[in-house]
Amino acid sequence: MSPSASTQPRQIRNFIGGEFVDGVRTFDKFNPIDGSLIGEVHEAGPEEVARAVAAARAALEGPWGRMSVGERAQIMRRIADTIDRRSAELVAAEVGDTGKPEALARDLDVARAAANFRSFADTVSAAGLDSYLTELPDGRSALNYAIRKPLGVVAVIVPWNLPLLLLTWKLAPALASGNTVVVKPSEETPSSATLLAEILSEAGVPPGVVNVVHGFGEGSAGGYLTAHPGIDGVTFTGESSTGSAIMRAVAPRVRPVSFELGGKNAAVVFADANLDAAIAGLARSTFLNTGQVCLCTERIYVERAVFDDVAAGLAEHAGRLRLGRPGDPATTTGPLISQAHREKVLSYFELARAEGATVLAGGGIPTLGDGLDSGSWIQPTLWTGLDNSHRAVREEVFGPVAALIPFDTEDEAIALANDTEYGLAAVTWTSDLARGHRVAQRMRVGMSWVNTWYLRDLRSPFGGTGLSGIGREGGQHSIEFYTEPTNVCVQL
Ligand code: NAD
Repeated sequence: MSPSASTQPRQIRNFIGGEFVDGVRTFDKFNPIDGSLIGEVHEAGPEEVARAVAAARAALEGPWGRMSVGERAQIMRRIADTIDRRSAELVAAEVGDTGKPEALARDLDVARAAANFRSFADTVSAAGLDSYLTELPDGRSALNYAIRKPLGVVAVIVPWNLPLLLLTWKLAPALASGNTVVVKPSEETPSSATLLAEILSEAGVPPGVVNVVHGFGEGSAGGYLTAHPGIDGVTFTGESSTGSAIMRAVAPRVRPVSFELGGKNAAVVFADANLDAAIAGLARSTFLNTGQVCLCTERIYVERAVFDDVAAGLAEHAGRLRLGRPGDPATTTGPLISQAHREKVLSYFELARAEGATVLAGGGIPTLGDGLDSGSWIQPTLWTGLDNSHRAVREEVFGPVAALIPFDTEDEAIALANDTEYGLAAVTWTSDLARGHRVAQRMRVGMSWVNTWYLRDLRSPFGGTGLSGIGREGGQHSIEFYTEPTNVCVQL
């Protein structure tokens, strides 16, 4: 029996060559708040992906490819203004897909999307050219200068945790640099990318410059895209193992990649720290977005003299978090993205217990009532009694959970924090200025904060070492990835 028009689920389509188009089949997207159906997502097959790549290639060779930097920067600013104007719609799309509190979606995700376009409009406008005179021993000289051309057709593949923020973090510099793109949003969060496609058209981005294909990874849109010979590079945010699969997919054609991958981030708390500030900061870095931020802290090393105070303070903060509906102003914490992800997080809760953890807070599924118990809720959780030898302390959980571990000396704290294959972010809490700089510099990570967390200047380099990624994006670092320099040498 076909559903009547009024019960027809929302259709979330691909965007190719400036038009919304069907896929080869659809898959259901559920709301993590209560498990209700959000819509049917049109999965792109090989044909749709090939058409998206062809549309991007054609647009690169059209007026977009010949547009001046000034004109492109103007479009970037118009996109930011349109995002601001349509912020409520974007918040609704983001909240529907992820279940996160409305205030978080508005103040972090959507606000940053607009900021991303403004920041890269500025960066690309200010980008200078290298030029220098080469003097030869025989008295001749040559003028060398480098021009930057767009990389070409860029595949942009992003995850579900901060969908619009992370998409625009890559889309804005790619467009500002004159590229055309094929975006593959996460299968879990198709809505805001689809709405953004509409917003980009409204702001004057020509058809074909940005294409959106929906689906999964291997054997679906993501796999078809990375294997397509028509892409000139891949910028990707997601799991380290997916980064590895994408590298294999592009290896035969030696395409450049920019990877922002997983983490198992450490915080170090010294006894000389302002403990109230440290505990509040740790609560934020552990539980923001239900722990589903790549920068979140999952390992907390605390100097032994203040271990019990920090553990008790953090457990109290965890107990004060309010799980609830996104529109309720009292809500601090949403659900996990899906039932499947909750299964993964719960498996780590079990593993930690089996490895000997003492559960200081949370540790399971909450009972919330109010029709929410079919959603993918989880309790904010803290463990003690584990050390770096345990898998629960070594592997990324990507949920609202951290292990607290004591240390005795500064060298030991640094060694414990660096004892990981990941290398994304670290936080040092101390009132000793010299120690703050010393420890921050010795952290083997891409981002090292002191007495704060997730404070970002969009011009600064963002990325990780080891399993946490390849390359840096942010300001000029992004422009370097999204452009190809050509050196011109003129004998004078
Ligand atoms: P994921 O790797 O499963 O998926 C990310 C995207 O890649 C999705 O769009 C997915 O469909 C696609 N994909 C999956 N397999 C693919 C393949 N073989 N080929 C092409 N595309 C493929 O990651 P996720 O579960 O969506 O996100 C969570 C992960 O992202 C965590 O590990 C987190 O740490 C990481 N992350 C990192 C950063 C950062 O900046 N370093 C930021 C946010 C999230």
